[in-house]
Amino acid sequence: MLKDLFYNVTTIIAVISIGNQILINEEITPSSPLKLRLFFSSMAGVLGILLMVNRVQVMSGVILDFQNIAIMLSATYCGFVAAFMTGLIIGVFQLVYVGLNYSSVITAITVILTGIGCGLIAKYTASKLKTWVLMSIYVAIILSLSYVVLIENQWILLETITTYGIGTAVASTLLYLFIRHLDLSRFLYRKYQADSIRDHRTGLNNVRQFDSELNKIMNQLTDRSIITLLFIDIDFFKKINDNYGHQNGDKVLEDLGKILLSSCSYSDILSRNGGDEFSVLMTDCPRDKVLEVAERIRSGVQEHKFYLINGQIITITVSIGVAIYPDTVQDINKIVEQADWALYEAKQAGRNRVFMEVPAL
Ligand code: GH3
Ligand code: MG
Repeated sequence: MLKDLFYNVTTIIAVISIGNQILINEEITPSSPLKLRLFFSSMAGVLGILLMVNRVQVMSGVILDFQNIAIMLSATYCGFVAAFMTGLIIGVFQLVYVGLNYSSVITAITVILTGIGCGLIAKYTASKLKTWVLMSIYVAIILSLSYVVLIENQWILLETITTYGIGTAVASTLLYLFIRHLDLSRFLYRKYQADSIRDHRTGLNNVRQFDSELNKIMNQLTDRSIITLLFIDIDFFKKINDNYGHQNGDKVLEDLGKILLSSCSYSDILSRNGGDEFSVLMTDCPRDKVLEVAERIRSGVQEHKFYLINGQIITITVSIGVAIYPDTVQDINKIVEQADWALYEAKQAGRNRVFMEVPAL
């Protein structure tokens, strides 16, 4: 019995861990795409079948199987349709595997009813814990009823129901703790993944993501590509830190990030490349509109009222260097260098201005 139990536990852990790894980047909820829910319910169906095939023989005539746990998983994560599907997969397999007889028909009906019941409980219960507890109780009741129909000997019936009740309570508690642990690790994995490409202060791309976006663009370059890069740097930002403190400097950086977001289009790639330097990478800006966009950003910043922590209002200006491939730079690998140089020229020319080399005709 212990060997069977061990096999069941390792099967559950292995299948859930593999599923978790495959779906680590997916948000799995009852409103996830149908394809994803069907995949989840099929995996749960496979788990249910593995658990059914390797039932735990508790004692002579008393058998425990945990196939319902697979249905509970489907219902908890993907809702009614998935739970029903998992129940159907296990139920149909039961009929094919065992063959058509009174006992297998009752068991198949029980499994399908488990799918429907668990699906409904998941649909109408908000919290995961409550859903799990209600489903465990429902499964225990419906299985006890099926045992009443199937087992004639009263002592075996009592032993089976008692063993199943205790077994299910222990298994479902342990499994609940396990899936909550996996939920947390999946959440943290996705959070760290998102954090690793974002600048924490502004929410824009960080410099690593800027590099990777630029590399992607370079690799997809065609004869018709027009790539524009704006480098934007705050004028005399050190003075803001010195005069109003670092915290106010941080607030100005955050607000500038928001101004850039509102002045650019959805497809533009906005980054904070470090310190008080930002960039806008555009792949679909017509060449005659580039200076207009840069000028709009510059004047928008100049006119913006920046609120400090104590409510005081200040204004700032920015200098912007512009490079356009293939107009001002013919080697795409040099676009960063040229935008940087143009920014330097804007600073040298007196700041609060946009600078772009006159394109070669
Ligand atoms: P310039 O017009 O030549 O750009 O003058 P500047 O004072 O802005 O000079 P520079 O761009 O070299 O200075 C950047 C300053 O930004 C230096 C640093 O103290 C400050 N800084 C960099 N990162 C942060 C940050 O995260 N928060 C704050 N508050 N300040 C920062
Ligand atoms: Mg600066």
